[in-house]
Amino acid sequence: MQRLVLASNNAGKLREFSALLSPLGFDVLPQGDLGIPEAEEPFGTFVENALTKARHASRLAGMPALADDSGICVDALDGAPGVYSARYAQMVGKPKSDAANNAHLISQLAGKLNRHAHYYCVLVMVRHPEDPCPIIAEGTWDGEVVDAPRGAGGFGYDPHFLLPTLGKTAAELSADEKNGVSHRALALQGLVARLQASRGRTGA
Ligand code: IMP
Repeated sequence: MQRLVLASNNAGKLREFSALLSPLGFDVLPQGDLGIPEAEEPFGTFVENALTKARHASRLAGMPALADDSGICVDALDGAPGVYSARYAQMVGKPKSDAANNAHLISQLAGKLNRHAHYYCVLVMVRHPEDPCPIIAEGTWDGEVVDAPRGAGGFGYDPHFLLPTLGKTAAELSADEKNGVSHRALALQGLVARLQASRGRTGA
């Protein structure tokens, strides 16, 4: 097995990534188990932040690393909250919580007719910290922001993220339904496809 450090300590992500990557020969370790602190995420794009996190984990662990970054981008807000999705309310002095983030998002959209938004996830894998050819996979999930929250599943902005074709918010989907179609699921599928293709090329 090839050891791979995950630049996150989120137990759900570790489970998801391990399940998909162990059949490809990767033993996924959360960076916290190796005593690696979280990296700063100072950049304005998801891919720059994910690459920084992956390089940081790879440098300190001395092994290949995988990092992700994700958030929600709202058209009428020029893509905000974007990379600030997790701390959107904090930026205006409110608590760092899903409820405060959602309240702030809805207030920013007051009076706006265009409610289109998309979730975005990028995954970056580096073979070593200076890897000039990181493997990058992304996924997007389109929806609309609704004022009234619906559903108890998911997390974050899910109760306000309506999938018009399903007539449900992301929080009204079961975990399996969400994991079949979400931005994170699509990015993971893309990563696995890229890894399988590179295995085929190198014969590894
Ligand atoms: P992270 O990349 O997992 O740290 O997520 C960043 C932030 O984006 C989260 O704290 C949420 O606010 C938002 N976000 C990312 N993915 C989702 C999702 O699937 N549902 C709801 N919110 C999400």
